[in-house]
Amino acid sequence: MPGLQPLYDLAPYPVKNILTTARGYVLTRMRYSQLFWRHLQELLEREKEPAGAIEEYQNESLRRLVSHVYDHVPFYRRSFASLRLLPSDIRTVRDLPLLPVLTRETVRSCWKEFISDDAGRGTVRVFTSGTTGAGLPVVYDGDAYIKNWAFRARQKVWAGIHPREWRISLLGSRVAPLDRTRPPFWTYNYLERQILLSIFHISSDYRQHYVDFLASHPNLFMEGFPSVLAILGGFVGEAGGHVAMRAVFTDGEPLQAEARRKITSAFSCPVYDSYGMTEWVGLIQECEKGRHHFISDYGLLEVLDDQGDPVPAGEEGYLVWTGFTNMTMPLIRYRIGDKGMWEKDQACPCGRPFPLVHPTITRDSDYLIAPDGRILSPRAINQLLKDRTSFRSCQFVQRARDTVEIRVVPGDGDAAKDAKSVKEALERMLGRTVAVEVVFGDKPLQRKNGKIPLIFSSIQTGRGEETTSVTTPASSAGQTINGEGNSIGSGGGVTCNNRG
Ligand SMILES: [Zn+2]
Repeated sequence: MPGLQPLYDLAPYPVKNILTTARGYVLTRMRYSQLFWRHLQELLEREKEPAGAIEEYQNESLRRLVSHVYDHVPFYRRSFASLRLLPSDIRTVRDLPLLPVLTRETVRSCWKEFISDDAGRGTVRVFTSGTTGAGLPVVYDGDAYIKNWAFRARQKVWAGIHPREWRISLLGSRVAPLDRTRPPFWTYNYLERQILLSIFHISSDYRQHYVDFLASHPNLFMEGFPSVLAILGGFVGEAGGHVAMRAVFTDGEPLQAEARRKITSAFSCPVYDSYGMTEWVGLIQECEKGRHHFISDYGLLEVLDDQGDPVPAGEEGYLVWTGFTNMTMPLIRYRIGDKGMWEKDQACPCGRPFPLVHPTITRDSDYLIAPDGRILSPRAINQLLKDRTSFRSCQFVQRARDTVEIRVVPGDGDAAKDAKSVKEALERMLGRTVAVEVVFGDKPLQRKNGKIPLIFSSIQTGRGEETTSVTTPASSAGQTINGEGNSIGSGGGVTCNNRG
């Protein structure tokens, strides 16, 4: 609730904790509802089933999905009509190629047509900014939320952690006012049993405060963006020690090898990575044996080449998802832009029936440094872009401590207005002494290796030698720039009725 942020910022610390708890009350009630526990129990039972049973579950779920979108989702009703298909034509996963591949850009340009006409009142609209700031609204309901939470909880169980244990979160919430210069940089959500640490105050000046806080809260589990956890891990390491935690769950960005090393060594515990996205169409989770599983009861995954044909195991292709969870805004054969490959060796010692897949995108990005020394990770900066739907891309360029350039490639909508509000928000985040300038361009800045990072910085790297490709993005994604275009891919020819 962004409108209440100023009031929250003004509240005394104990009141902040109450507000945080109150703000989380509805979510907590949903998260641990009876429905949640039932879903979790089902999931824990399903993962013991043989691969054949999972396949049958997938086919059933696909049939249910297809019949739902045909009856209720305008985009698909038209799409089926123009392809002369009926739901009965899609019986199993093998029939999926009859439907076209969908790009993120198509969904972005006509997202309202993907919303089910039987969506009830309790739907929530959120935004995902993608890696380069092209915003997409996503709509879901409470049922999808609870299911999604159960899938997340199952991974906790893999780590031997009960879903209701206390945790430390380093996510995007603004839990302390940006101009705060002394602790606390954290707040408590008592009902949720969650301590939220600010990711906007991490700096060498405040390093000791963070280290002391963690040292006084050992043996919990942590969750957050890998870039942020790696900085904290680095702080703990520099302070000459480690703080033992039960496990660390990373999400929201690729987890680079160097970041993983810093986190495991600082917190003396395993890291469980996961890859998902706000669209809730697909999920990849790391098991206790350190392998990445495509969660095949969450949705369907195809790995396809540029022409939409499947690529063999061991070769890189686009990850193309069909989700079973979100019936309010269902997406079928959704090519988000990320790449990956099926593992050649599909045997994991954990024995679960979920195939092994290797996401290969390494979303590298620098950090922004505020004049007061705070280090802002790509995910902290990403928060500024979440509800901006008018950018094709948006990046941040820092060449000196006191200047930042916002580089925007406009798409549909009022990009100038959005750019102005991002500029103002960034000034609030970095402090008024920073000169922020908006520059419009016709294509995003690209590194020599072709990657398109959110932040370019020539004053530091702060990234260490992060070179491997063991990754996991999430909560956003979609490299829809680079001319992937608006077309719907092979066999389709369906476009939006109206834009926006
Ligand atoms: Zn495994």
